[in-house]
Parts: sequence; structure tokens; C-alpha cells
Amino acid sequence: MIAKHMKELTESGSAIRAMFEEGKKMARERGKDHVFDFSLGNPNTPPPEKIKEAAIAILQEEDPIRLHGYMSNVGYEEVRDQVAQNLNRRFGTALTREHLIMTVGAAGSLNIALKTIIEAGDEVLLLAPFFGEYIHYMQNYQGVPVIVAPDIPNFSLNLTDIESKITAKTKALIINSPNNPTGVIYPPADIERLAQLLRQKEKEYGHAIYLISDEPYREIVFDGAAVPFLPQYYDNTFVCYSYSKSLSLPGERIGYLLIAPTMDAFEEVAAAAAVAIRILGFVNAPSLMQQVIGRCADALSDMTVYKENKEILYRELTDMGYAMVEPQGAFYMFPQSPTADETVFCEAAKEYGILVVPGRTFACPGYFRLAFCVAKQTVQGALPGFKALMERFGH
Ligand code: PLP
Repeated sequence: MIAKHMKELTESGSAIRAMFEEGKKMARERGKDHVFDFSLGNPNTPPPEKIKEAAIAILQEEDPIRLHGYMSNVGYEEVRDQVAQNLNRRFGTALTREHLIMTVGAAGSLNIALKTIIEAGDEVLLLAPFFGEYIHYMQNYQGVPVIVAPDIPNFSLNLTDIESKITAKTKALIINSPNNPTGVIYPPADIERLAQLLRQKEKEYGHAIYLISDEPYREIVFDGAAVPFLPQYYDNTFVCYSYSKSLSLPGERIGYLLIAPTMDAFEEVAAAAAVAIRILGFVNAPSLMQQVIGRCADALSDMTVYKENKEILYRELTDMGYAMVEPQGAFYMFPQSPTADETVFCEAAKEYGILVVPGRTFACPGYFRLAFCVAKQTVQGALPGFKALMERFGH
């Protein structure tokens, strides 16, 4: 018999994944030109050519026993060196391989960070709207999610509510910028205020409060927006990074965990994280992909289509009357639903072949998420449907 909590999880499922499956089914039934699937953050731009070349070269050049064998749980040293150098060039930091663990995407990285610090009953602040998987990741370690109310309509950091939700049990806060689902980037002044608040609360409660920065969208920014590098603002920072989006490699499951050199008891935390990756069953990040990253640490996918899609959708949808914050980064937008119950809107959207995700999946009902990492034809093809939906539900 399966575990009770797994039974509940299996029955409730993931709304986003369910939509993705539904999209595939609709495409079979209606033909894929009549389905406009904005459900999943699956990049629709190929990885840079360099990735394929590197993978082929590695398979041809590297010693197969070393390449395919077990390794240090934290990953290849030379790969971590390359990643550290890439970060140092961009942020003027002095990171080394010691600060990095190669991981199975950001999901792996988040789980390692949480496993390292969370005891049963510890509270972790989640800033609504947020990536719904955080709740499950936290519950893996009997952490308690504490939801900070969204700052409507701007979706900036709700520092007042963050302050009111921090208690003696608060162990961490997860922050995600550029944000899924809003596309908001938190500006340096807000990050500075958050860091000050956390430092003050650390002092008050006499223990570390970790900032876990989930950054799969760091490089996807529009109009030159800058994303603050959190280890430069706050000592007890973990950065959970993924190459899923910047290099269009979500199926390859590759990312890293960065432990800020300034973290309290750094050596102890790093050693515990190295155990966590092993005992969570990841053991280490995929070896071929690690080596690819080592050779392509500076590469990026061509993201022109995201910018074009964002501009078309933002212009057209706002013209139709949809209210939203203009995304500054990532490849999502989070318009207000024209019906109070956004699940009604999302269901109705399917009639027009449009798949979008209800805001409650992100702990923010009344809104819906659109992932615009899709082909431009999908965006163009969906516009009449969005117009019809506004005419039907708008007032
Ligand atoms: N965090 C956020 C905010 C995401 O949107 C995603 C994936 O979409 C992840 C983490 C997981 O990333 P990965 O697939 O690289 O593990």
C-alpha cells in the first residue's frame, strides 16, 4: 500500500503537468495548429550549437571510464572551476569550486539546500505567487511552508508581510527572480531592504535565516534589466541555478548549488550539502552534461523569440483589456483573470484551444499564467481566442 501522503499527491497531481498532457491530447484530437499551449515552461528555442558539438567532442575525446564512472558527489572539479570563473567574470566575485555543487537542475539544487538546513517543523517563507513545487520540496523534509501574501497588483517584494510572517521557527525564505509566474525582477533596493530585515531577525532570534535564491531565469531578461546577485547582499545565501532555461536543456537535468562563501559555518554547510546530494539519491549530477557545461559555461540560447513573444502578448493582451505587470524577465506573464474564479476562465480558454495555468497553482487565485516560451505562430494563433474570452468574460 502506498504512503497516505503519496495517495493524496497522486490524486491531486500537478496542475501544470496535467495541462501539458491535456495539450498533447488536444493536439491529437484537433490538430496541433489549433492548440495554443502556454502551460509549461519548456523552452522552444534550441540549445546553442556549441552544446551538441561539445557533447560529441567529449564522447570522442574523454576517457570513457572517467566520463561514465562515479565521481566525487559534488561534481567534476574542472567543471566547478569553469562555473566559478564564469560567475566571477560576471559578478566580480572570488568564487571557487569549493562553493559549488553540480546538481540535477534547480529542483535538485533546491532539495539539497532544504535537506541541508530543514528540521521537522522549521518554517520556510514562500512569496506568493510562487512555483508550486516548493511546497512539496519542503514537505520532503517536514518543513512548514508559510505563505507571504502577494503584493497586488505590482507583485514586488511584500516586505511588510514578510516581516509579519517571520517567527522564531523561520529557517529560510525562498526567492525567485526573475519570477515564475510574474516575470518580475526584484530591484537592488528591495533586495537590500530584505537583507537588512533578515539580518535584524537573525539577531533577534539568534540563528541563521537562509535566503534560498532560485534562479533558473537569471539570464532571461528584457531591455537590459539587471538581476541582483544575492550573495553580494546577504551572507547566508544559497543560489539554486539551472541550465534548463538559459541553455534550453530541461530534460538533461543539470544545474548547480552555490553556497555563499560568507555563509555561517560554511565548511559544515558545504559538507552537509555534499552528503545531501548523495543520500537524496541523486549521487551526482549527470556526468556528460557536467562536462558539456564545463566547456560551454559562457554559452546562452538565442532568446530573441521570448522578447518578441513578450512584446506581442503584452501589447495585444493589454489592448484587449487584460491587466498585468509587464514582464521584465523569465518567459511568463501573469494577467488578472477577467472572471473572479480564474479556473472558470482557464476551462473556457480550452474551448479556443488555449492552455493557460490557474493562478491558484501559484498560491494566487484570480490570475492566470501564460508561458510564452513558445513558437511565434502559437502567440499569433491564440490572439483571437484571447479576444473572444475577454469579450465573453470582460465587463
Ligand atoms: N524553480 C522555478 C521557479 C522553475 O520555474 C523551475 C522550472 O520550471 C524550477 C525551479 C525547476 O527547474 P529545473 O527543471 O531546472 O529543475
